[in-house]
Amino acid sequence: MLSLPVLEAPATRAAPPAAPERSRAHGLVDSHGRRIRDLRLSITDRCNFRCVYCMDPDVRFLDSGSVMTPGEIERIASVCVRLGVQRIRITGGEPTVRADLAKIIKRVARAGPSDLSMTTNGALLDDRSLHAWRDAGLQRITISLDSVREDRFAQITRSRTRASDVIEGASRVERAGLGSVKINAVIVRGFNDDEIVDLVRTARLIGAEMRFIEYMPLDSAHAWSREKLVPASEIIERIERVFPLVQRGRERASATAMVYDYRDGAPGAVGLIAPVTRSFCGACSRLRITADAKVRPCLFSRDEFDLMPALRGGASDDAIARFLADATWAKQAGHGISSSGFVQPERPMSAIGG
Ligand code: SAM
Ligand code: SF4
Repeated sequence: MLSLPVLEAPATRAAPPAAPERSRAHGLVDSHGRRIRDLRLSITDRCNFRCVYCMDPDVRFLDSGSVMTPGEIERIASVCVRLGVQRIRITGGEPTVRADLAKIIKRVARAGPSDLSMTTNGALLDDRSLHAWRDAGLQRITISLDSVREDRFAQITRSRTRASDVIEGASRVERAGLGSVKINAVIVRGFNDDEIVDLVRTARLIGAEMRFIEYMPLDSAHAWSREKLVPASEIIERIERVFPLVQRGRERASATAMVYDYRDGAPGAVGLIAPVTRSFCGACSRLRITADAKVRPCLFSRDEFDLMPALRGGASDDAIARFLADATWAKQAGHGISSSGFVQPERPMSAIGG
């Protein structure tokens, strides 16, 4: 694990410190030699759920005037693609609560990434929307589902949506021409860790890749503790007792998930995302932009850089490119969760964009 110096208090900075001129010429590269290929683009901090590990029930959202317009989102996407970004994931908050989502997808697709995906809580996946998003250029969807038990699903999401609605929505994704669906579950000890095998069983029924994410200190309640973390090694062990697996490995060095196929040849797969116990920071290729246009070099950044004044102040594409290159240069070596000086970022996951 990479260790970090003690981090300072959180700060939104107007602009990042300038990167050396020679690095700016190479697109989005950081001072540790990593290149940005993946953009996580948050289009809203709003959500129709209030997941216990993510968002407070009485959360205060950004006012609508501070949230990026479709035109601003497209501009950032196209400058990033010009700088070498290949994959863009639209996220939030919950992206499907934006009424102009299809328009946003169309504009981001126009920027020309080779892969365009979206993460959603799966509450609003009717056929009409799925087709509209596909026609607008969306290629893949990842859905979050942390429990298949209705009472617990309601307890986790604090919403009226039912787990069965989300599963039904997930089963429609592939039929709508949006590739094979991935399902994400965050596992929290003593809360839903008894459902690991049930989640896999459900995903197998619809041929989805079931991905387990280690619980990270990004919750709004700051209630994360190491005791609540279920390490990826334990998750895989529990699955293997019921469904033997064969390791496929990572799609790319920078991919977040370790992927396993079923030994019995069943459709779908199991993915493990272990940012805490098997940090993949050394191969990180991600940059994040929040719904209010703050550039966050890392999920765990204590500093973020405000691109909105440039976007709304008539800056040229070249100036925006320089801003993004400088913010990338400032990317920290690793998240440092295991270092004694670790301080949880002020923004919860919902306000960063997962
Ligand atoms: N609303 C969408 C959803 O839930 O899929 C997209 C945004 S959500 C912030 C993106 C992902 O972050 C989800 O898969 C969610 O489970 C995950 N997430 C949220 N809080 C987390 C935490 N504290 N630790 C690990 N993953 C978390
Ligand atoms: Fe909303 Fe997604 Fe956070 Fe749940 S995890 S509260 S669905 S943003």
